[in-house]
Formats: sequence, structure tokens, C-alpha cells
Amino acid sequence: MGSKFIVLGAGISGLAAALRLRELVPDARVRLWEKSNRPGGVLRTVERGGFQFEQSTDNFITFVPWGLNLCEKLGLTDRLVRTNNRDRRTYVARRGKLYPLPDGFMMLAPTRLWPMVTTPLLSPLGKARAGLELFLPRLTDERDESIAQFARRRLGREVFDRIVEPLLSGIYAGDAEKISLLATLPRFREMEKKDRSLILAMTKTQKEARRAKREEESGARYSMFVTLREGLSRLAEKCAEALGEDVIQYRRAAARVDRLPGESGAARWRVTDESGAAEEADALICALPSPVAGALFTESVPEAARYYDAIEQTGCAVVSLAFRDEQIRRKFKGMGFVVPTREGGSIIAGSFSSHKYPHRAPAGYTLLRIFVGGARAPELAEMPDAPLLERVLTEIRPLLGAEGEPADVEISKWPRGMPQYHIGHLDRLARLNRALEREPTLALCGNSFTGVGLPNCIHTGEEAAEKVAKWRVSE
Ligand SMILES: Cc1cc2nc3c(=O)[nH]c(=O)nc-3n(C[C@H](O)[C@H](O)[C@H](O)COP(=O)(O)OP(=O)(O)OC[C@H]3O[C@@H](n4cnc5c(N)ncnc54)[C@H](O)[C@@H]3O)c2cc1C
Repeated sequence: MGSKFIVLGAGISGLAAALRLRELVPDARVRLWEKSNRPGGVLRTVERGGFQFEQSTDNFITFVPWGLNLCEKLGLTDRLVRTNNRDRRTYVARRGKLYPLPDGFMMLAPTRLWPMVTTPLLSPLGKARAGLELFLPRLTDERDESIAQFARRRLGREVFDRIVEPLLSGIYAGDAEKISLLATLPRFREMEKKDRSLILAMTKTQKEARRAKREEESGARYSMFVTLREGLSRLAEKCAEALGEDVIQYRRAAARVDRLPGESGAARWRVTDESGAAEEADALICALPSPVAGALFTESVPEAARYYDAIEQTGCAVVSLAFRDEQIRRKFKGMGFVVPTREGGSIIAGSFSSHKYPHRAPAGYTLLRIFVGGARAPELAEMPDAPLLERVLTEIRPLLGAEGEPADVEISKWPRGMPQYHIGHLDRLARLNRALEREPTLALCGNSFTGVGLPNCIHTGEEAAEKVAKWRVSE
């Protein structure tokens, strides 16, 4: 009889792990335990009245291959939708108004100088300080630092407060004072090392960016982000269909993991569910969120429990609002906006979802996705719907010139749903990986390791399968 594998958690990481295991070890018995009654974890699409609401993940990046490859494997390539290539602008709030992000500003640095000179977002002093970056020496040691420290060191306090901080919060929902540069945006440290100045390094990449834009407009390559026409729940449903009915066990939550001595020196695993029923496996893949996983491994693999416990989680909520076009007085041509912490308020960012992906709303309507909470106000992820909606509407009305009540609303809350890679994350990960080298039958995957984005989660799932399948082959 073939080996038995248990995978815990049918979010995208566990689904990708189980699919890869089935490819690598076709004769194995794979069982995927899922606490809820559906696949996909945080991926949830709601369709109603012609609107498509994504409750968590909006789209995924295409400059790493794992998301696109999984779609191809599942026959979903023709269901991929690119972002609208008109009016890609992002806005930044300042004193209650939205101003365009300087053209070419990419996360931590500008690629073009003139838009930085003319932007109303910065004072003359702030612009001068940013310009000084061209002449600053490079950091010579390898130490980790926060995104805030890095951005202030290179571009000055104003660029950090008014541009970098809101852009970062919009992505990681985190505290830029704590988020590790090396774990989240290492390429900027690489640029500093190689070219000394970020501005010099980024302006060199402009030619490549223009070529990419031309190729994208001609259809020769994907936009930077894509989604699925039927919504991202479809990705998880297709994974579940491909795995077949006997693999996923819904409403089965792991409550305890025991490490058992195995023959040939490698451990076997016993997993007990909440009803007390236990199953043994030759190898185990854990694809659970860190707060759950940490508790499961406290006794069986303390190094893993310590790693998971060190990852802070923050909470957030997504409030989707459908307005008739004429209810939004100010016309913004762009993908969305971000709000600096210093502006106050609950909103971290918003996207003009139906401009980004026109299929998400019927003609004549604008669908907004407002992202609130994060490290600035994690308690909002647990606030009752009615006061949360009131709060968002109170902030959104003056900012966008929105009038009246929305035609439809969808609210989703994610308390402790966003893992934060704080300073030292890479050192902790290296320590964990050294410990896991001694456990060839155990692999951990998910958004607690090398990236929270969907493609990274898929990649960690596939790598986890490759690790335990390799042991099985060489066993
Ligand atoms: C609001 C929000 C917006 C996001 N936006 C984007 C975006 O636009 N683009 C992007 O790329 N990424 C985005 N992400 C990140 C990305 O979606 C997630 O990191 C990724 O989907 C996590 O997948 P996962 O499988 O690792 O975990 P999860 O999706 O959390 O799956 C874990 C699974 O484990 C199950 N489970 C829990 N406990 C047990 C147990 N004891 N036993 C068995 N099963 C259990 C859960 O029910 C769940 O199904 C967003 C995340 C959030 C929360």
C-alpha cells in the first residue's frame, strides 16, 4: 500500500500542497482536513445583483509564476482577467483631499523625477530632502531594518509619512515601523547595495517598465495583477474538483498533533480531530494560519510552535460599497487611493473595484472596496456591521464626494487575518528551517513564511509537497 499523507487546512496553500502531492506520488493516500465546509480559506467571492464582491483577496501578482501556473494547470487561463489598462493612477489623501501619487513612484522610491518636483503632496523642503537621496552613501552592513527606518534614511520623513507609509499599509495592513525590509521588500536593499542611490537605480529600470507597458497594452503579457472572471473562490473550487471527493474532509478540525517514532529514523504523525478521532500518517503538511498551527505543535515540535507564536497578526475589514455613478460627485480616474496614518480615520485604502475590473458591477454603478483597520486599528475587524458601515460612510462621503446611501453593501472581517513579518523574521525563519531539516516527514506552508500573497502561498504549498514526497521517494 502507498504512503499516507495528511494535509491540514484547505486554504489555497493546503490545496496547492495536496494537488502537488497527488502529482508527485500518485499511489499515495492524501487526506486534506478542513475545519469549515468549503475550500479556499480566506478566498471568498459573493455574487449578487450583478455585483461581484471579493471578501478578501482582490487579485494576484503576475511577476512571480506560481499563481498563473496553477491557473494553467486547472484549465483556468482563459478565465483570467487583466486590470483595465486605462487610468491606472493611485491617489493619496492629504488634508481630506485626494491627490495623484507622483507618476512612476514604486513602493519605496520614485522612478521619475519631474512628477516628484511637481507633486502637491510634498512641501519644497520635503522634495529637497528626497532629492538628497541621489548623493547619500550606501549602508554597508547587512542588518535588517524596518521599512520606516529605510524610507526615512533614504528619502526623508515627509516622503515616508505622506507616500511610503500609506502605500505599505495598503498592502500589508501593518505598522511600517516594525515591518522588516529584508523580509518584505529586499530588492530595495539590493538596489542600494548595487547602485548606492534608489533614485538612480529606479530611473535605470524605467526603460524596462516602458517596454513592459507597451507589451501589456498589445496583449503580449499579463498586467501586473490579474483576477478570475468568476472570482477567486473559483480557483479554490477548481483545486477541490481536481483533488476529487475522497481527498478533502470538510468540518474536520485538527486539535492535536503527536510525533511518533518511525522506522528509518523519520517521525510518523498522529493527528487528532476535535471529536477525538485520530489518524496516523507517514508525513504531515501543515497549511494552517499561525495562531492555530502554533498551538498544535507546542509539544510535538516546539521549534515550530515558537516560530508561529512569534508572528504577530493584525486584523482588518473589507467594506464593499455599490453606488450609482451619479452618487459620486468627484470623478477619479484611477485604480484606488491610500490614506496616510497621519490623516487620521479608519480607512487604510480603497479601490475603485469596478474601474479596475469592469465585470464587477453593472453599467451605471461604481463598486468601491474600502480596506479598514490593520495595525492602526485592528479592533475595527471585530466591530459590528452597522457602526462600521456608518464610520466608513462618514469618512468616504467627504473624500469622494459620495452622496446618499449605497445600493448594496458587503462587509467581511478578518480579525487576526494578516500575518506581519516584523524585523528579525528572516533570522527566525532560518532557525526554523534548520530545525525542520531534522524532520523530513513534516512540512509547513502558508502565509507565515515567505510572502502573504496568493502566488507565494501556492509556492510554499508546492514546496511542502516536494519536501515530503522526496523523503517518500528516497525512503
Ligand atoms: C482581507 C485580505 C485581503 C487580501 N488581499 C490579497 C490580494 O489582493 N492579493 C493577494 O495575493 N493576497 C491577498 N491576501 C492574502 C492571501 O489571500 C492569503 O495570504 C492566502 O489566501 C492565505 O492562504 P492560506 O491557505 O495560507 O491560509 P487560509 O486561507 O487562512 O487557509 C487556512 C485554512 O485552514 C482552515 N483551518 C483553520 N483551523 C483549522 C484546523 N484546526 N484544522 C483544519 N483546518 C483548519 C481554515 O478554515 C482555512 O480554510 C489577502 C488577505 C486578506 C485577509
